[in-house]
Amino acid sequence: MARIPINISAGTIESKTPESVIVGIDLGTTNSLVAFIKDGEPYILTADGKRGLVPSVIHFAESGEVIIGSDAKSFLQSSPERTIYSAKRLMGKSILDLEGYTDSMGYKIIGNQDDDNRLLQVKVNDHFYNPIQLSAEILKELKSKAESILGKSVLKAVVTVPAYFNDAQRQATRDAGKLAGLDILRIINEPTAASLAYGSGIDIDTSEHVVVYDLGGGTFDVSILNIDKGIFEVLSTHGNTFLGGDDIDNVIIQYWKKTYELDDIANHVLKPLAESTKIALSSKDSTSTVFKDQNLELSKATFEELIEPIVEKTLYSCEKALKDSGISLEDIDKVIFVGGSSRIPVVKDRVGKFFKLPIYDKIDPDEVVALGAAIQADILAGNRKDILLLDVTPLSLGIETVGGLMDTIITRNSKVPMGAGRNYTTSVDGQTKLRVTVFQGERDLVKDNRKLGEVILTDIPPMPAGIPKIEIKFMLDANGILTVKASELRSETSTSIQINSQYGITEEEMGKMLLESITNAESDMELRGIQEAVTEAQIVYNSTLKFIDQNKSWLKKNQIDTLLSHHSDLKAAIESKDKQAINRQLDILNDYSRPLAEQALDRVVEDNLSGKSLLDD
Ligand code: AMP
Repeated sequence: MARIPINISAGTIESKTPESVIVGIDLGTTNSLVAFIKDGEPYILTADGKRGLVPSVIHFAESGEVIIGSDAKSFLQSSPERTIYSAKRLMGKSILDLEGYTDSMGYKIIGNQDDDNRLLQVKVNDHFYNPIQLSAEILKELKSKAESILGKSVLKAVVTVPAYFNDAQRQATRDAGKLAGLDILRIINEPTAASLAYGSGIDIDTSEHVVVYDLGGGTFDVSILNIDKGIFEVLSTHGNTFLGGDDIDNVIIQYWKKTYELDDIANHVLKPLAESTKIALSSKDSTSTVFKDQNLELSKATFEELIEPIVEKTLYSCEKALKDSGISLEDIDKVIFVGGSSRIPVVKDRVGKFFKLPIYDKIDPDEVVALGAAIQADILAGNRKDILLLDVTPLSLGIETVGGLMDTIITRNSKVPMGAGRNYTTSVDGQTKLRVTVFQGERDLVKDNRKLGEVILTDIPPMPAGIPKIEIKFMLDANGILTVKASELRSETSTSIQINSQYGITEEEMGKMLLESITNAESDMELRGIQEAVTEAQIVYNSTLKFIDQNKSWLKKNQIDTLLSHHSDLKAAIESKDKQAINRQLDILNDYSRPLAEQALDRVVEDNLSGKSLLDD
């Protein structure tokens, strides 16, 4: 049965024209790759039999020339302050997000001139570059390399990002593409691309649960996918945007510094030695490297001990992802390995034991993501109509309502793309303006969540409180970019924004937010209960005075006195913030005022009827 691919509208397709081709790009922290489809099969773009990896390194030469890739890598030692690596780690971040990390780089990272909360910059002599410009330099190089090798223009691409990249980071990646002259048709999660490369789901009759374990140079992700009859669905993702081969290198550097008293040596000087030692230990039992007349030794056993905390962190993420996916360990069919650091034997061993399964690692773990991106490009080109791709949003999205409460509109782990909406109204008479503040997170009070932005709806015609029909619509696209639209339906006024938050959120923060939501669930629920009672009581409190004022002509004095007495008791209860006391006083006031309200209504009806008969006469 042919399936209709979703989101094809994301890219209007002309891939089959001979002069242009859509490519898949793995824009990696350490290395980047381009892949393309030839005769239905994905291939890595390589020049003259060389490997396709392009180191994600940029060297700004004094002459003004910008050098990318292997040639740039050789300047890491000789000219570190002009040679930028791991720029992907800086995407969508402010200087405040990177506290404790900037010192370990050989180049200078500075805050935004106006505000440290805004996107950081890299300073090379007198020039400033933001991470979007840096990534664009790499993309430009990949584009021109692809064009010269393929002999076709490359204008469109599918680019992969770690599953935990937030809106700002995805948007930054998209902007980098634009700057490089590339139309990024789709941004997909790296684990999703990897599973595509392994062909999971290509056979329309199979159904399976796949774990994608991706330990790269700078990021770690684990995703659990449900692949059912050609439909890919990411059930859950977990990971850490600050965990990978760079950290493993750092562990070795710290060990050497301690063992051989090398405290004065800069990290970036030791890094290449640490990296080659680490790689050698993937196939040898011990290594020795000469540095300034010293033999820096490291055995496999010590190495495995040193990286144990890193391996443990990844297993913790596996556990979390499994829990979030809602499936049990026995239901997992496949574990796919991705990322250069997944070659480390102890990692394979521990993860295999955790899932009680053999590891799928026959595709080069450096190439697998780019190959999958090329397959996705092929899907967008309309060549594989039998595959669907669904991703999930890692944190809930919602708005602030009265009393600082979070009202979730799209819940965590919802499949994207998705749209959801909810109707609201005003709480004040004659309100002509409404501020809708958008938050991300799991807590009941918005102050504990993360603010993403706000949209202000203006020109609402003045109406009594409760009459305007405010519709808030959230649309989360396949790239995780959120569009929020606020409309007042009676007057047909509306306004919308695209959320592009200023700076990123680390996976650790995300994990912390989730954990806090679990540990505080009970107290949060209690606070929400109190806040809801207070809000309701305040509405009744205000309307009681209005009611007395509008009906004082016929209300008896003792009725007014009793209403006022209950009214002041309610006020005291609101001030006490005691939910039970508030509800008790609400009941007392409601019970007493209900018959009076009915009488008032009868009077209105009577007046109207008598008015009508007068007219009829
Ligand atoms: P990626 O970001 O996926 O390109 O991964 C690059 C990371 O993998 C770097 O930190 C490399 O040092 C690391 N790496 C590559 N090959 C090996 C290997 N054989 N053993 C251990 N780490 C490796």
